[in-house]
Amino acid sequence: MVKKVVTDLDLKDKKVLVRADFNVPMKDGEITNDNRIQAALPTIQYVIEQGGKVILFSHLGKVKTEDDKADKTLRPIAERLSELLGKEVTFVPETRGKELEDTIASLKNGEVLLVENTRFEDIDGKKESKNDAELGKYWASLGDVFVNDAFGTAHRAHASNVGIASNLESAAGFLMDKEIKFIGGAVDEPQRPFVAILGGAKVSDKIGVIENLLDKADKVLIGGGMTYTFYAAKGIEIGTSLVEEDKIELAKTLLEKGGDKLILPIDTKTTHEFSNDGVIEVHEGVIPSDQMGLDIGPKTIELFTKELQGAKTVVWNGPMGVFEMTNFANGTIGVCEAIANLTEATTIIGGGDSAAAAMELGFADQFTHISTGGGASLEYLEGKELPGVSSISNK
Ligand code: AMP
Repeated sequence: MVKKVVTDLDLKDKKVLVRADFNVPMKDGEITNDNRIQAALPTIQYVIEQGGKVILFSHLGKVKTEDDKADKTLRPIAERLSELLGKEVTFVPETRGKELEDTIASLKNGEVLLVENTRFEDIDGKKESKNDAELGKYWASLGDVFVNDAFGTAHRAHASNVGIASNLESAAGFLMDKEIKFIGGAVDEPQRPFVAILGGAKVSDKIGVIENLLDKADKVLIGGGMTYTFYAAKGIEIGTSLVEEDKIELAKTLLEKGGDKLILPIDTKTTHEFSNDGVIEVHEGVIPSDQMGLDIGPKTIELFTKELQGAKTVVWNGPMGVFEMTNFANGTIGVCEAIANLTEATTIIGGGDSAAAAMELGFADQFTHISTGGGASLEYLEGKELPGVSSISNK
């Protein structure tokens, strides 16, 4: 189903409810990284330009008790947003009630209001996180239309995304729309050849993604810690490398299912301890009993680079090694370089650690799309329906 986008809505004179993702990292009441606020600006600015009244909702962290409230207020977000927009942002320290309703009623076209953390509604019965029907209906009653721009929560049915969307005409914001186009597009109708590269620590976190992409992609390249569970499934000695014993059978099934499509590393960078300071060796095949694999080796980088040639769609999720240690970052850097050099491909990083790795290693602007969602991107890549997306009105 093709979803409405904010540009499909008539926003002039309208009270426009916008679900943003302002779930930013905070320390001692200070925002330590405002990327998410910056990322929400295009949609907010568009609504302002169109003459709408912007009423923003977001969650911040988890709120279980009254004591959590002081640390989890959105007040600092309103201040930062105001600086970034260069205009006043009215903050209402409530999630419902007369003050909120009166402030909304007095809003003029182009003005911006931020409602308090939606998860304050979780203290008494998890109303936000359990998508309480009355709460979704109440929030929807505060506006005329709804724009959902919070991809990070799209895999959850909460009152502030699904609840509001079930009661109002709705559309995807620009960020959400990009995620639907790129991740949804890659999974549903990829340009071929479609190559997926999957890494990260564990097979267990990525089972759904591996299974779905083995169906959809033309090749699935495996790296990172999960390699060794596959090696174990093939009877290859893995030394002290990370392994999930209880997933070896599953790895065997995936190897069978994948056949030639599933490509494993052919060499491994090893060391004796989980440390950046030990002696490093490279092994093809068997890993010595006293060593662990912490990165793919140079021949694998070459192999993966070759396998990526000619790809039209590339999805990458999960680092190829322990990239946080400089001696084991080459595999991840090599894959970043190989993807960055593909000029004809749509290249997508499916969130989480690989997005962090690409940014840290300086490749952020060389991908077509870096997903903003962790859990949401994984579930999208698993081929699951995301309630936050499916609840948006169809075109
Ligand atoms: P994930 O969140 O599943 O994408 O996993 C990311 C983490 O996997 C990173 O912190 C990496 O350090 C870690 N990782 C990657 N390769 C290995 C490996 N060979 N052994 C242990 N951890 C790894």
